[in-house]
Amino acid sequence: MTALRGVGAALAERLARLGVYRVADLLFVLPLRYEDRTRLSALGSLASGQRTAVEGEVQLTEVTYRGRRQLLCRIADGSGMLTLRFFYFSQSQQTNLARGTRLRCFGEVRRGPLGLEMVHPEYRRLGTLPAPLEETLTPIYPLTEGVPQGRLRALIAEALRELERDPPEELMPEGLVPGALPSLSEALRYLHHPPRDAQLEELAAGRHPAQRRLAFEELLAHHLALKLRRRSLRTEAAWPLHDAAQLAPRFLAALPFALTAAQAGARADVERDLAAATPMARLLQGDVGCGKTVVAAAAAARAAGSGVQAALMAPTELLAEQHWRNFRAWFQPLGEPVALLSGSQPARTRDSARRAIATGEVRLAIGTQALFQEGIEFARLGLVIVDEQHRFGVQQRLRLQEKGQRGGRAPHQLIMTATPIPRTLAMTAYADLDISVIDALPPGRTPVQTVVVPEPRRAEVVQRVVQSCRDGRQAYWVCPLIDESEELRAQAAEETAARLKEALPALQVGLVHGRMPARAKDAAMLAFQAGRIQLLVATTVIEVGVDVPNATLMVIENAERMGLAQLHQLRGRVGRGVGLSSCVLLYRAPLAPLARERLRVIRDCGDGFEIARRDLALRGPGELLGTRQTGLAQLKVADLVRDADLLPAVQSSAERLLAHEPHKAAALSARWIGGAERYGRVG
Ligand code: ADP
Ligand code: MG
Repeated sequence: MTALRGVGAALAERLARLGVYRVADLLFVLPLRYEDRTRLSALGSLASGQRTAVEGEVQLTEVTYRGRRQLLCRIADGSGMLTLRFFYFSQSQQTNLARGTRLRCFGEVRRGPLGLEMVHPEYRRLGTLPAPLEETLTPIYPLTEGVPQGRLRALIAEALRELERDPPEELMPEGLVPGALPSLSEALRYLHHPPRDAQLEELAAGRHPAQRRLAFEELLAHHLALKLRRRSLRTEAAWPLHDAAQLAPRFLAALPFALTAAQAGARADVERDLAAATPMARLLQGDVGCGKTVVAAAAAARAAGSGVQAALMAPTELLAEQHWRNFRAWFQPLGEPVALLSGSQPARTRDSARRAIATGEVRLAIGTQALFQEGIEFARLGLVIVDEQHRFGVQQRLRLQEKGQRGGRAPHQLIMTATPIPRTLAMTAYADLDISVIDALPPGRTPVQTVVVPEPRRAEVVQRVVQSCRDGRQAYWVCPLIDESEELRAQAAEETAARLKEALPALQVGLVHGRMPARAKDAAMLAFQAGRIQLLVATTVIEVGVDVPNATLMVIENAERMGLAQLHQLRGRVGRGVGLSSCVLLYRAPLAPLARERLRVIRDCGDGFEIARRDLALRGPGELLGTRQTGLAQLKVADLVRDADLLPAVQSSAERLLAHEPHKAAALSARWIGGAERYGRVG
């Protein structure tokens, strides 16, 4: 980085936060938007909301006290007038804006008490010399603390000059890039300094050919990195697991049900992989409630029965504890102990679990990320299972895989997700994994009946809870989604619980939220599972994994603020037994069109894949499905959903590059993924 003039250690560190480690990385910090400073607008033609450059002569400058001390400066250009308003100003500024001074300003026009105005515009005084306007659109870059816009712009301009002297190698062979997309250098030059007639809407939507060119290359780079990783994994050694102790068959025989055909199919894939001497890397995909846990447990049993350890990682403590209770119930009777490791355990419990894992005394370990933190050593880790992987990043997934690498052996990996992402997307985001799908639910399930109810009818919903609990069933009440903080969410949940307790004196009402001590959470969950609590008030912490088949009613408050994927996950907590289940989506009017459509989709549709498809079609800003759920979170230019149409070409291009020009494949992934080493060892 220091190769750039004037960049010291402090600035270099701040740039690193933007992902900039090398001069070339600067080129890939792309503008968020553009401003047009290539032309002036006549003052008489201005409209509120416009961001533009103007020129005019100062008519009057005065300090006023309308509520607050401020400097007002009126300029005119013959076609009209404009007021400039400053709340922070110095004496010299006031003197500089004397009547007769010519100014050029840039800012946003808005309607003020005296007509159109700009508040704190950028401005400069014009002298007698001609002051040329910008020739290209002005880029506005994403900011990081301590790197001012002007500084970043100057650094990038320098990197662009560097680009002219020494263009980056064109790594995409002729014919690979679909359509008539520009070269890499052209695309970069264009995006940093688009010409004044550029299509701003197209750029804002990310659909300009220059953006598509970069998006294509970026997706290809990530895809290649994962594929290369898969290749290198195949060259590693793993323990072939044969389950001499026959623990898996004994476990399955003791279950009160038989595996469905879909589960058995997935299990057969896993069994085949585990018997091999190279590490398994498999994604187990299946809708909420399809029964992934028992397939994972059978794999863990095979590991333990082969004398190696299996670790199951869950994204929340709640879920880790639930898995632990299940595993204990399944395996203790078979003489196989199970350890739990979670961040909030008392130190003594945690220490003894850690020791048992380090000595190899226990072969089945369940936990949160705590499983893979410093200081946790496995005696002989043979299998890593990640539940609800979309809650973790790619990095975490890869880090834990590295954790197991010992004595020249890599652990097998089984990754589970309920995120029903379309196939092309899955193939790109999980290119390092083989995929098994469980595509059917266990028998006897009836679809969850979903109704959408406006807030004023809350009392009816409360009655419904009473009715359902009177019938011996249980219910969840999910509290409003408050964005601000976990703290506020917890508070809202406590208030809701208190109100419901008061309204329902005959019911046992419990509460779980993320801020509760682990023991209290655990106690509430256990009581709910055992039926001692009838109504469980919760934040979205129960979104993933929680499994209480007797709970048949789910009420979700503020459903209009949740994304489809989240609603589907939450609703997946009911409909797990044989009884008829229902889900009530409470909303507050007025509904935005997108929210209305989302509620309609979730009401009419129970199938995760179908919901995902509709989600893709509807996706507004901030919607859930795309990058966040697949783990390719740090894409710079591309957007997995917006650019989904590029994915088939990305996949075929990756195959061709790997087959014919593997050195370019490695260089391409290094260019985009570079210093951050997000995929660990590449190639
Ligand atoms: P998910 O795939 O969402 O993790 P779970 O593994 O939690 O689903 O399973 C949901 C419920 O279905 C659990 O109560 C589980 O015991 C039950 N279940 C799993 N497989 C079967 C099966 N083959 N027959 C009947 N019930 C099953
Ligand atoms: Mg699960």
